[in-house]
Amino acid sequence: MEEKKKLSAREIIENYDGPKLRIMEVCGTHTHEIFRLGIRNILPENIELISGPGCPVCVTPVGFIDEAIMLALEHDCTIMTFGDLVRVPGTEMSLAGARAKGARIQPVYTPTDAYEYAKEHPEEQVVFLAVGFETTTPSACMAVQMAKKDGLTNFSILTANKTMTNAYRALKGSADAYLYPGHVNAITGAKSCEQLADEGIYGVICGFTAKEILTALAVTIVKLQEGKPFFKNCYPRVVTQEGSISGQKMIEETMEPCDSEWRGLGIIPQSGLQLREEYAAYDARKKFALPKVEGKPNPACRCGDVLQGKCKPSDCKVFGTGCTPLHPVGACMVSNEGTCAAWYAYNR
Ligand code: SF4
Repeated sequence: MEEKKKLSAREIIENYDGPKLRIMEVCGTHTHEIFRLGIRNILPENIELISGPGCPVCVTPVGFIDEAIMLALEHDCTIMTFGDLVRVPGTEMSLAGARAKGARIQPVYTPTDAYEYAKEHPEEQVVFLAVGFETTTPSACMAVQMAKKDGLTNFSILTANKTMTNAYRALKGSADAYLYPGHVNAITGAKSCEQLADEGIYGVICGFTAKEILTALAVTIVKLQEGKPFFKNCYPRVVTQEGSISGQKMIEETMEPCDSEWRGLGIIPQSGLQLREEYAAYDARKKFALPKVEGKPNPACRCGDVLQGKCKPSDCKVFGTGCTPLHPVGACMVSNEGTCAAWYAYNR
């Protein structure tokens, strides 16, 4: 009997001719890598890749930018932040706009840089803008723990940290399966996605090289065709079953779950992290008694729909005209990981 030829991952993808499949690549880095590597060009018409809400800058709500500007302009704080956030539009202006009005806004690479700066500048109140998912949150927690140990009174963080698991639940039904972001699972472990499979949410953990992305896509297609519940860790060289115990411990000691607003998705229950009561002195909202701020996004911007896979960036009326990386109207055009920025760079 003739042995059946084993297909490569690329052949499985290219030869797929079953019913239409919608696969969401959750992570902004995946969105960019998939474009950059030309993987979209080999997809048959009946496979649709949807970009999800995995870019931390993109899902940070407008009101958070407004709070940071309030701290800078009304409380004379030095704002230290990842560079991308500086150009994200707030209700009236961005942090770059606040800087033009005299605010001290400084990009940093890590939260520890902000802690070091605060140590060296005791005359300034330094606030670090803590955004991001499980991958970056441990480093913000570490900066807070170091500040507490040193007794620093001029350092705090403004939190918009988010966790992915409840976002997957909130987006259930948006796609047939997820490509889970491997770096998030490096912290949370594969076990969090196994649990989702029991709830009818399917996907594979995906790495970042061409081979890893193609393999993850091929496995997703094969598993969807089988029509059974599934989850697969396709990034085992980095993601273990339990994840990073030290990273989880750092978060657990310093922060606790809270409801969180996601740009365009609204409030997702228990999808955020805030500082625990014992670290209240390092919580900028409490320290400066910030009022509740409701930001207003530009009505032309469809970031919310883009982040849920309800429309493509090119469906937005201002894409590539009123909204460009040089003059972004919404967050998805600002960040290197943003879906609109990826479409602008690779798919105009
Ligand atoms: S193109 Fe610009 S305005 Fe439109 S959804 Fe994207 S970021 Fe928002």
